[in-house]
Amino acid sequence: MVKPKYKRVLIKLSGEALAGERGVGINLPTVQEMAKEIQEVAASGVQIALVIGGGNLWRGEPAEQAGMDRVQADYTGMLGTVMNALVMADSLQQYGVDTRVQTAITMQQIAEPYVRGRALRHLEKGRIVIFAAGTGSPYFSTDTTAALRAAEIQADAILMAKNGVDGVYNDDPRKNADAIKFDELTHMEVLKQGLKIMDSTASSLSMDNDIDLVVFNLNEMGNIKRVVFGENIGTTVSNKKG
Ligand code: UDP
Repeated sequence: MVKPKYKRVLIKLSGEALAGERGVGINLPTVQEMAKEIQEVAASGVQIALVIGGGNLWRGEPAEQAGMDRVQADYTGMLGTVMNALVMADSLQQYGVDTRVQTAITMQQIAEPYVRGRALRHLEKGRIVIFAAGTGSPYFSTDTTAALRAAEIQADAILMAKNGVDGVYNDDPRKNADAIKFDELTHMEVLKQGLKIMDSTASSLSMDNDIDLVVFNLNEMGNIKRVVFGENIGTTVSNKKG
Protein backbone atom coordinates (compact mmCIF):
# COMPACT_ATOMS: atom_id res chain seq x y z
CA MET A 1 0.00 0.00 0.00
CA VAL A 2 1.25 3.47 -0.82
CA LYS A 3 2.00 5.45 2.30
CA PRO A 4 1.48 9.19 2.73
CA LYS A 5 4.64 11.27 2.43
CA TYR A 6 3.80 13.29 5.54
CA LYS A 7 2.75 12.38 9.04
CA ARG A 8 1.46 15.80 10.06
CA VAL A 9 0.55 18.66 7.76
CA LEU A 10 -0.85 22.12 8.13
CA ILE A 11 -3.20 23.04 5.30
CA LYS A 12 -3.57 26.76 4.62
CA LEU A 13 -6.74 27.73 2.78
CA SER A 14 -7.38 31.30 1.80
CA GLY A 15 -10.78 32.59 2.81
CA GLU A 16 -11.67 32.86 -0.87
CA ALA A 17 -11.50 29.07 -1.10
CA LEU A 18 -14.79 29.03 0.83
CA ALA A 19 -16.51 31.62 -1.31
CA GLY A 20 -17.29 29.62 -4.44
CA GLU A 21 -18.10 31.38 -7.72
CA ARG A 22 -19.11 34.64 -6.09
CA GLY A 23 -15.63 35.21 -4.69
CA VAL A 24 -16.98 36.70 -1.47
CA GLY A 25 -18.85 35.35 1.54
CA ILE A 26 -19.25 31.69 2.43
CA ASN A 27 -20.80 29.25 -0.02
CA LEU A 28 -21.82 26.20 1.98
CA PRO A 29 -21.71 23.65 -0.88
CA THR A 30 -18.13 24.78 -1.63
CA VAL A 31 -17.13 24.29 2.00
CA GLN A 32 -18.81 20.89 2.06
CA GLU A 33 -16.97 19.79 -1.06
CA MET A 34 -13.68 20.82 0.46
CA ALA A 35 -14.50 19.17 3.77
CA LYS A 36 -15.18 15.91 1.91
CA GLU A 37 -11.78 16.07 0.29
CA ILE A 38 -10.05 16.85 3.60
CA GLN A 39 -11.95 14.00 5.26
CA GLU A 40 -10.60 11.58 2.65
CA VAL A 41 -7.05 12.73 3.35
CA ALA A 42 -7.61 12.42 7.10
CA ALA A 43 -8.85 8.87 6.55
CA SER A 44 -5.41 7.95 5.19
CA GLY A 45 -4.03 8.54 8.68
CA VAL A 46 -2.33 11.90 8.12
CA GLN A 47 -2.64 14.35 10.99
CA ILE A 48 -4.22 17.57 9.74
CA ALA A 49 -4.24 21.09 11.12
CA LEU A 50 -6.03 23.82 9.21
CA VAL A 51 -5.58 27.56 9.00
CA ILE A 52 -8.28 29.34 7.05
CA GLY A 53 -7.93 32.98 6.04
CA GLY A 54 -10.68 35.56 6.16
CA GLY A 55 -10.28 37.43 2.90
CA ASN A 56 -13.69 36.27 1.65
CA LEU A 57 -15.26 38.34 4.42
CA TRP A 58 -12.88 41.12 5.36
CA ARG A 59 -9.30 42.33 4.99
CA GLY A 60 -7.67 44.82 7.31
CA GLU A 61 -5.44 46.66 4.85
CA PRO A 62 -8.08 47.86 2.36
CA ALA A 63 -10.30 48.87 5.28
CA GLU A 64 -7.43 51.01 6.59
CA GLN A 65 -7.03 52.59 3.16
CA ALA A 66 -10.75 53.40 3.23
CA GLY A 67 -10.28 55.30 6.49
CA MET A 68 -10.67 52.75 9.28
CA ASP A 69 -8.29 52.38 12.20
CA ARG A 70 -5.94 49.54 11.21
CA VAL A 71 -5.98 47.68 14.49
CA GLN A 72 -9.76 47.65 14.66
CA ALA A 73 -9.89 46.59 11.00
CA ASP A 74 -7.50 43.71 11.68
CA TYR A 75 -9.53 42.51 14.66
CA THR A 76 -12.54 42.47 12.36
CA GLY A 77 -10.54 40.36 9.89
CA MET A 78 -9.52 37.93 12.61
CA LEU A 79 -13.16 37.47 13.60
CA GLY A 80 -13.89 36.67 9.95
CA THR A 81 -11.51 33.73 10.14
CA VAL A 82 -13.51 32.40 13.10
CA MET A 83 -16.71 32.37 11.02
CA ASN A 84 -14.92 30.42 8.30
CA ALA A 85 -13.49 28.00 10.85
CA LEU A 86 -16.87 27.31 12.46
CA VAL A 87 -18.50 26.58 9.10
CA MET A 88 -15.65 24.29 8.03
CA ALA A 89 -15.66 22.51 11.41
CA ASP A 90 -19.36 21.83 11.04
CA SER A 91 -18.89 20.37 7.56
CA LEU A 92 -16.01 18.17 8.69
CA GLN A 93 -18.05 16.93 11.66
CA GLN A 94 -20.89 16.06 9.28
CA TYR A 95 -18.49 13.91 7.29
CA GLY A 96 -17.62 12.13 10.50
CA VAL A 97 -14.28 13.79 11.27
CA ASP A 98 -13.80 14.86 14.84
CA THR A 99 -12.78 18.52 14.63
CA ARG A 100 -11.81 21.20 17.12
CA VAL A 101 -11.59 24.92 16.56
CA GLN A 102 -8.96 26.75 18.62
CA THR A 103 -8.91 30.53 18.59
CA ALA A 104 -6.03 32.90 19.28
CA ILE A 105 -8.56 35.34 20.76
CA THR A 106 -10.53 33.63 23.48
CA MET A 107 -14.24 33.09 22.89
CA GLN A 108 -14.79 30.08 25.03
CA GLN A 109 -18.51 29.71 24.41
CA ILE A 110 -17.87 28.76 20.81
CA ALA A 111 -14.31 27.43 20.57
CA GLU A 112 -11.35 26.27 22.60
CA PRO A 113 -8.61 28.78 23.24
CA TYR A 114 -5.36 28.04 21.42
CA VAL A 115 -3.32 25.75 23.67
CA ARG A 116 -0.44 24.04 21.90
CA GLY A 117 -0.43 20.94 24.09
CA ARG A 118 -4.13 20.39 23.58
CA ALA A 119 -3.80 20.91 19.85
CA LEU A 120 -1.10 18.23 19.76
CA ARG A 121 -3.28 15.82 21.75
CA HIS A 122 -6.17 16.37 19.32
CA LEU A 123 -3.90 15.72 16.35
CA GLU A 124 -2.51 12.55 17.90
CA LYS A 125 -6.06 11.33 18.41
CA GLY A 126 -6.81 11.87 14.72
CA ARG A 127 -8.85 15.02 15.21
CA ILE A 128 -8.53 17.93 12.82
CA VAL A 129 -7.62 21.17 14.54
CA ILE A 130 -8.59 24.47 12.95
CA PHE A 131 -6.53 27.41 14.17
CA ALA A 132 -8.73 30.48 13.97
CA ALA A 133 -8.48 34.21 14.76
CA GLY A 134 -5.05 34.37 13.13
CA THR A 135 -2.14 35.02 15.46
CA GLY A 136 -4.43 37.09 17.68
CA SER A 137 -2.42 40.19 16.77
CA PRO A 138 -3.09 42.91 14.23
CA TYR A 139 -0.64 43.63 11.37
CA PHE A 140 -0.17 39.91 10.73
CA SER A 141 -1.74 37.62 8.14
CA THR A 142 -3.12 34.13 8.21
CA ASP A 143 -0.11 33.05 6.11
CA THR A 144 2.04 34.08 9.05
CA THR A 145 -0.38 32.25 11.34
CA ALA A 146 0.15 29.13 9.21
CA ALA A 147 3.95 29.41 9.44
CA LEU A 148 3.82 30.07 13.18
CA ARG A 149 1.44 27.24 14.03
CA ALA A 150 3.27 24.84 11.69
CA ALA A 151 6.47 25.55 13.63
CA GLU A 152 4.71 25.17 16.98
CA ILE A 153 3.13 21.81 16.15
CA GLN A 154 6.21 20.67 14.18
CA ALA A 155 4.24 19.99 11.02
CA ASP A 156 6.19 18.25 8.26
CA ALA A 157 4.97 20.78 5.72
CA ILE A 158 2.54 23.59 5.02
CA LEU A 159 0.24 22.74 2.14
CA MET A 160 -0.55 26.08 0.61
CA ALA A 161 -3.75 25.56 -1.35
CA LYS A 162 -4.23 28.31 -3.94
CA ASN A 163 -7.32 29.26 -5.85
CA GLY A 164 -6.84 28.57 -9.55
CA VAL A 165 -3.02 28.79 -9.57
CA ASP A 166 -1.08 25.53 -9.76
CA GLY A 167 2.22 26.70 -8.29
CA VAL A 168 4.70 29.55 -8.18
CA TYR A 169 5.56 31.37 -11.42
CA ASN A 170 8.13 34.01 -12.30
CA ASP A 171 5.24 36.24 -13.40
CA ASP A 172 1.45 36.23 -13.07
CA PRO A 173 0.33 33.32 -15.32
CA ARG A 174 -3.12 34.88 -15.68
CA LYS A 175 -1.58 37.97 -17.28
CA ASN A 176 1.53 36.58 -18.94
CA ALA A 177 1.18 33.42 -21.07
CA ASP A 178 4.99 33.02 -21.08
CA ALA A 179 5.27 32.91 -17.29
CA ILE A 180 7.40 29.97 -16.15
CA LYS A 181 6.41 27.69 -13.30
CA PHE A 182 8.99 26.65 -10.72
CA ASP A 183 9.02 23.03 -9.51
CA GLU A 184 11.30 23.90 -6.62
CA LEU A 185 12.46 27.05 -4.89
CA THR A 186 14.28 27.98 -1.71
CA HIS A 187 12.73 30.34 0.81
CA MET A 188 15.69 32.66 0.17
CA GLU A 189 14.91 32.76 -3.56
CA VAL A 190 11.28 33.55 -2.80
CA LEU A 191 12.32 36.43 -0.56
CA LYS A 192 15.06 37.77 -2.86
CA GLN A 193 12.95 37.59 -6.01
CA GLY A 194 9.90 38.97 -4.22
CA LEU A 195 7.76 36.06 -5.42
CA LYS A 196 4.26 36.40 -4.12
CA ILE A 197 3.46 33.17 -2.35
CA MET A 198 2.99 34.46 1.16
CA ASP A 199 3.96 37.72 2.81
CA SER A 200 7.60 38.21 3.74
CA THR A 201 6.98 37.73 7.48
CA ALA A 202 5.52 34.29 6.77
CA SER A 203 8.36 33.45 4.35
CA SER A 204 11.05 34.47 6.86
CA LEU A 205 9.40 32.47 9.60
CA SER A 206 9.26 29.40 7.33
CA MET A 207 12.90 29.85 6.37
CA ASP A 208 14.14 30.37 9.94
CA ASN A 209 12.23 27.35 11.20
CA ASP A 210 13.01 25.13 8.23
CA ILE A 211 9.40 24.53 7.24
CA ASP A 212 8.69 23.13 3.79
CA LEU A 213 5.90 24.60 1.75
CA VAL A 214 3.98 23.00 -1.10
CA VAL A 215 2.02 25.43 -3.26
CA PHE A 216 -0.66 23.82 -5.42
CA ASN A 217 -4.04 24.36 -7.06
CA LEU A 218 -6.97 23.72 -4.76
CA ASN A 219 -9.54 23.88 -7.54
CA GLU A 220 -8.63 20.45 -8.89
CA MET A 221 -10.38 17.76 -6.91
CA GLY A 222 -8.00 15.30 -5.27
CA ASN A 223 -5.01 17.62 -5.21
CA ILE A 224 -4.65 17.72 -1.42
CA LYS A 225 -4.40 13.93 -1.44
CA ARG A 226 -1.93 13.99 -4.33
CA VAL A 227 0.36 16.34 -2.41
CA VAL A 228 0.05 14.35 0.81
CA PHE A 229 1.04 11.20 -1.08
CA GLY A 230 4.10 12.91 -2.52
CA GLU A 231 3.03 13.54 -6.12
CA ASN A 232 5.04 16.38 -7.57
CA ILE A 233 2.30 18.78 -8.47
CA GLY A 234 2.78 22.46 -7.79
CA THR A 235 5.90 24.06 -6.35
CA THR A 236 7.91 22.98 -3.32
CA VAL A 237 9.64 25.69 -1.31
CA SER A 238 12.25 24.65 1.25
CA ASN A 239 15.68 25.64 2.52
CA LYS A 240 17.46 23.15 0.28
CA LYS A 241 16.49 22.01 -3.19
CA GLY A 242 16.53 18.33 -4.21
N1 UDP B 1 -5.47 39.21 10.49
C1 UDP B 1 -4.74 39.83 11.50
N2 UDP B 1 -3.81 39.11 12.20
C2 UDP B 1 -3.56 37.80 11.95
C3 UDP B 1 -4.28 37.18 10.89
C4 UDP B 1 -5.22 37.91 10.18
O1 UDP B 1 -4.92 41.01 11.78
O2 UDP B 1 -2.72 37.19 12.62
C5 UDP B 1 -6.54 39.98 9.80
C6 UDP B 1 -6.04 40.93 8.71
O3 UDP B 1 -6.83 42.07 8.74
C7 UDP B 1 -6.31 40.15 7.43
C8 UDP B 1 -7.59 39.41 7.77
O4 UDP B 1 -7.45 39.09 9.16
O5 UDP B 1 -6.47 40.98 6.32
C9 UDP B 1 -7.89 38.18 6.97
O6 UDP B 1 -6.76 37.35 6.89
P1 UDP B 1 -5.95 37.10 5.52
O7 UDP B 1 -5.92 38.38 4.74
O8 UDP B 1 -4.64 36.49 5.87
O9 UDP B 1 -6.90 36.03 4.82
P2 UDP B 1 -6.71 35.26 3.42
O10 UDP B 1 -6.07 36.22 2.43
O11 UDP B 1 -5.83 34.08 3.65
O12 UDP B 1 -8.10 34.86 3.04
